[in-house]
Amino acid sequence: MRFRFAPSPTGYLHIGNVRTAIYNYLISKKYNASFVLRIEDTDMERSSRESEQSILDDLKWLGIEWNEGPDVGGDFGPYRQSERFNIYKEYTERLIRDGKAYYCYCTQEELDIMRRESLLRNDDPVYQGRCRELSNNEKKKFEAEGRKPSVRFRLPKEETIIINDIIKGRVLFDSENIGGDFIITRPDGIPVYNYIVTIDDALMKISHVIRGEDHLSNTPKQMLIAHALNLPIPRYAHHALVLGPDKSKLSKRHGITSVNMYRRNGYLPEAIVNYLAILGWTSKSGEEIMPIDEIIKEIDIEDLSNKPAVFDFQKLKWINGHYIRNSPLNDITELSLPFIMDEGYCLDETDKDWLQKVISLLQGKCDLLSDISNLAGIFLKDVQEPDEEADELLNQEESKIIIEKLYTIISDDLDMNNFANDLINRIKENTSIKGKKLFMPLRAVLTGKLKGPELDKAIELIGFAKSKERISYFYDKYANK
Ligand code: GLU
Repeated sequence: MRFRFAPSPTGYLHIGNVRTAIYNYLISKKYNASFVLRIEDTDMERSSRESEQSILDDLKWLGIEWNEGPDVGGDFGPYRQSERFNIYKEYTERLIRDGKAYYCYCTQEELDIMRRESLLRNDDPVYQGRCRELSNNEKKKFEAEGRKPSVRFRLPKEETIIINDIIKGRVLFDSENIGGDFIITRPDGIPVYNYIVTIDDALMKISHVIRGEDHLSNTPKQMLIAHALNLPIPRYAHHALVLGPDKSKLSKRHGITSVNMYRRNGYLPEAIVNYLAILGWTSKSGEEIMPIDEIIKEIDIEDLSNKPAVFDFQKLKWINGHYIRNSPLNDITELSLPFIMDEGYCLDETDKDWLQKVISLLQGKCDLLSDISNLAGIFLKDVQEPDEEADELLNQEESKIIIEKLYTIISDDLDMNNFANDLINRIKENTSIKGKKLFMPLRAVLTGKLKGPELDKAIELIGFAKSKERISYFYDKYANK
């Protein structure tokens, strides 16, 4: 068995599209089969090498590995369509020679007029085959006029095309109903997707094509081309698409859709792979948190969903939180450091053991690596300015009493071996304010926030010097006015 993922490098890797890559990858792993990465870069205007590189980087980051592809080569390359034009040309010549394709000299203006006329007659606006049976003289005349021909595929008359789709079941198309003789090579010599995907899938010996159901309507064209060229036809499996919460195709206006942005926002690759795998596939146990190895064991092509799945941003975040909390501390520390440095902190002089303790404390509270870096200021800044909520609370009379007491306590002799607990115990003893009303202002002074990691552990890590500095600062800011 051989599988493939065939992205067009015209932008960032989309979260919906990468699900297709993930399915192909997981299932190829399951069957110990080859997984091919083919770059479909024939849209010269929109494709770029930068975009190709970012797709490769994102796939690698997700842990998706391919056995053959533009960077690693393989027996069936080249793996970029733009490097295979001579192959397609040979096949086009063969189709023309066999009368299965023909040159079409119609200009865009003529096609537009024909289209409008068809619409006026209430006919389907499809190509009516004006150049289907041109004589050699007619061709010469057009060429003498300087017209550059496209090449059209000659659709067979009244043929039923049957797709035995692994997910969709039996799907029938009528050759009369798939849009008329379609262009396989444009006048500028660039061959089109439906045509070359067929040749490539066959020459790359792809046995199974798993892709989104938006490609189902392309499949009859691809099968007819394969048939005309006597090429093998792969098994098709068209899975349902990912939708936004409003049930339209998932797009930017619903939230983040590029894999790259998820990476930059502090998601872990295993969480993304896990979430996308269960979005459109259900494990037998109904379990949702599944490491990739278990998914590989259980998943199969026929179990992929035929019903569109709504992308749940919150659930992905929740799954990410699970992976953050359950990953080894060393890994989370390594992964968090670049995020913390991106917040502008220099960690060169920072004690590594202390930093690891900080991250360990935050690991239990955070869903994203960027949450960890957002909260890191609690420990790294000299004074953590209060956020809006904390400021509001600290302006209240009761808070001022607490700040004054803290100021006295911190100037006193504290037990340095146990200073966080000593500080907390003393403030408890020295005020009649209790519970939340005491602890929220205490937290606000020491961390600048009303929410965060366990307070006693946080104060211990903030340390005496910074705690003292913060209390003095807040004393001046709120109490000593
Ligand atoms: N390049 C096509 C796309 O990105 C591939 C479609 C296919 O899998 O055949 O949509």
